Amino acid sequence: FEARPRASRLSELAGLSGFLKIGPVVIFNYTRGVPIDRYAAAAEEVARAYRDVRSVFLKLGTTGELRLPQLVLVYGDGDTEAEVKENGLRFRLDVSRVYYNPRLSGERARVAGLSRDGEVVLDMFSGVAPFSIAIASRARAHVLSIDINPYASYYAAVNVEENRRRLVGDVEVLRVDARRLPETVDGSFDRIIMNNPTASVEFLDVACALASGGASLH
Ligand code: SAM
Repeated sequence: FEARPRASRLSELAGLSGFLKIGPVVIFNYTRGVPIDRYAAAAEEVARAYRDVRSVFLKLGTTGELRLPQLVLVYGDGDTEAEVKENGLRFRLDVSRVYYNPRLSGERARVAGLSRDGEVVLDMFSGVAPFSIAIASRARAHVLSIDINPYASYYAAVNVEENRRRLVGDVEVLRVDARRLPETVDGSFDRIIMNNPTASVEFLDVACALASGGASLH
């Protein structure tokens, strides 16, 4: 047999901080001062441990309103498209064009578990719609999934279709700036998800204008 390192300890073996695996794409957070060849060696170790890995990137940071990662390829063919499974659902995305963090899957399951049949939900910074789709998979809710990034809305729509037979509620996807919501949508919402940690406070006035009495804001 060929010996393979244990995946959970790879980051320790490589002496680097942790990495994210998003389907066949692996992303290392770049730490200043660590030479690039250390990352290249770690990338090869990761690729040996996970046979499905196609590309390994270094993430220099996350920039702009769209929260897009600045990526440098250190291993593989550079393909940034991925398909991932989360909470029994499937998501397609391009890691270079949209924000997606698999570490939030527990929070998405938690919020979905709080949602009730008949709720009208607004997912205000939806990305590729993992919160929206998780909610509609658990509750007969109507979810409006909005994002300013057209690629996020494209993948959100694709993901609604991909998961269609697992949904009991419905998800409507809209590409719009959240600041324009009060003049764009009618009615009010029982639950509003504001998953944009760097800016959600700036949108509290919009959320409050759209919230029904007794609504929950996340
Ligand atoms: N909720 C998603 C998830 O769980 O994967 C991703 C959230 S990501 C941290 C923040 C998202 O907010 C990005 O997809 C970005 O494009 C979107 N965004 C930023 N400013 C926005 C605005 N003014 N209106 C609508 N969406 C916005």
